[in-house]
Amino acid sequence: MADHSNYRPETLAVRAGQERSQFGEHSEALYLTSSFVFGSAAQAAKRFSGEEEGNVYARFSNPTVTMFEERLAALEGAEDCVATASGMAAIMALCLAHLKQGDHIVASNSLFGATVQLFNNILSRTGITTTFVSHTDPAAWEAAIRPETKLFFLETPSNPLTEIADIRALTAIAHARGILVAVDNCFCTPILQQPLAMGADLVVHSATKYIDGQGRVLGGAVCGPKKLTEEVFKYLRTAGPTLSAFNAWVLLKGLETLKIRIEAQASSALRLATWLESHPKVARVFYPGLASHPQHALAQTQQKSGGAIVSFEVKGAREQAWAVVDHCQLLSITANLGDTKTTITHPASTTHGRISPEARAAAGISEGLLRIAVGLEAVEDLQADLERGFSLI
Ligand SMILES: *Cc1c(COP(=O)(O)O)cnc(C)c1O
Repeated sequence: MADHSNYRPETLAVRAGQERSQFGEHSEALYLTSSFVFGSAAQAAKRFSGEEEGNVYARFSNPTVTMFEERLAALEGAEDCVATASGMAAIMALCLAHLKQGDHIVASNSLFGATVQLFNNILSRTGITTTFVSHTDPAAWEAAIRPETKLFFLETPSNPLTEIADIRALTAIAHARGILVAVDNCFCTPILQQPLAMGADLVVHSATKYIDGQGRVLGGAVCGPKKLTEEVFKYLRTAGPTLSAFNAWVLLKGLETLKIRIEAQASSALRLATWLESHPKVARVFYPGLASHPQHALAQTQQKSGGAIVSFEVKGAREQAWAVVDHCQLLSITANLGDTKTTITHPASTTHGRISPEARAAAGISEGLLRIAVGLEAVEDLQADLERGFSLI
């Protein structure tokens, strides 16, 4: 891989990782092929053994996928990256590459729902156990450490309450005991937050969200130093949760506009959050870019802006929250996020609907809570859309 260390993120986003074929194509080529041809039996043997670099079989290498991996690695400031079929495949690959029966994970208690299911219902079957602790209390992480703890796993800001986990503090605690730290950087993307630069060992992504950013394909990735990603690559080569070349090509193009999209979305999110905070029908706003956020100061030390997710509580309960959702004509009613199209979700009855009302209340997910993933529409149009429901409650 070329040395990109002097380039700024917007340059890396459009240039890093490109490998041109003999045809000199300007845009990155899409290689739709499952296998690669060798010049001789001897070359085939060398490629299979790894003695000679080069593509063999698309379960573990494809030039389009490699271009995506190199570009994302450059943006994360990582030595290496392994792309996967989805964000969940990335988390699974990371865990099975680095953990074994008897190992223990300490994880944030406000992780993405499917990640909690993966740890509790799938990894647990292999004898890997998880303790969930307060997202915002480093002392709780330290107290949960056991001799067999091998991994701290976190995601910040949290969904939907945008609480901030202190990456530097948690990394210091973990590294004092030889524990790896993995950060799911889906919400901020490397444009707004670089966990590796703050000491984390590995970054995982759901590229499905902001990296594609246009709601088209699924993808994921694990980024970090080669000595750690190599194990993930070995797992992928054998187990096969591979990113397709087509999806890699879409994601490469997504990376090219990631910076301008997420910055525009975050700036709209701040305007929307500020407006919501002064709205008479709104009880409370959760957005790390607002001075009223309890961890605003910490957020400013580790992320470049508040990001593009805004949550708020309407005055009232489920009926009032649903009225706001149901009167939206522009905002899409969907739990997905990271799209150019703004989405609105009622967490208590969707993403967090399967947990008991008591557990939900303990987690701060009230019946009046709504989450907005801000897209690229005009903020005034989003406000007018929300006002339709506000005016009726
Ligand atoms: C969506 C999401 C995932 C899972 O990603 P998929 O691509 O849907 O498998 C993991 N973590 C976070 C924070 C997410 O938002």
